[in-house]
Amino acid sequence: MKKPDKDIDLMVRACYNMDELYNRGEHPMKFLIVVDMQVDFISGSLGSAHAAAIVPNVVEKVMSFEGKVIFTRDTHFDNYFDTQEGRKLPVLHCVKDTDGWQICDELKPFVDSVVDKVTFGSVDLPKYILGCGEPIEEIALCGLCTDICVISNAMILKSTFPEARITVDANCCAGVTMESHQTALDAMKAAQIEII
Ligand SMILES: [Zn+2]
Repeated sequence: MKKPDKDIDLMVRACYNMDELYNRGEHPMKFLIVVDMQVDFISGSLGSAHAAAIVPNVVEKVMSFEGKVIFTRDTHFDNYFDTQEGRKLPVLHCVKDTDGWQICDELKPFVDSVVDKVTFGSVDLPKYILGCGEPIEEIALCGLCTDICVISNAMILKSTFPEARITVDANCCAGVTMESHQTALDAMKAAQIEII
């Protein structure tokens, strides 16, 4: 079966050699993905002290980042309890347009680009990134939760952009538990994602 052209295009773009680009004097793009820093994950139905504690770190990271910042939003609907996620995690959260779905107040002033996603990892995120500019030198990630949505998106981005430097800032992430946070960091490190 013939591959659609856009898939071939994505493949070519994902295989840029950064050293060659630098030698040609080109300036690759840097992205920061701020994952699900939403009210429900910080002070709402799935909030935690660890999540609240990283908010100032994430604000600082966003403010000092030299590149394009993209926020993601976990997004559910009235049918949440009938979804696979809802059956395994029967705690209503991040229902579209509710207060809990919003990016937290501290980060709201920085929200320019947003990708809504209906599950942990976003298959739209790599396409959105490519639409913002290329070639891509670095994609940094931070946010919530380390062991669910941060790791899911980090793995998708590492797979899509094998020549980009993928980094995760451990001090700007929080997990469901401290143990699962650390387990996820170890798993990402094993997959050659840089934990900083
Ligand atoms: Zn969710």
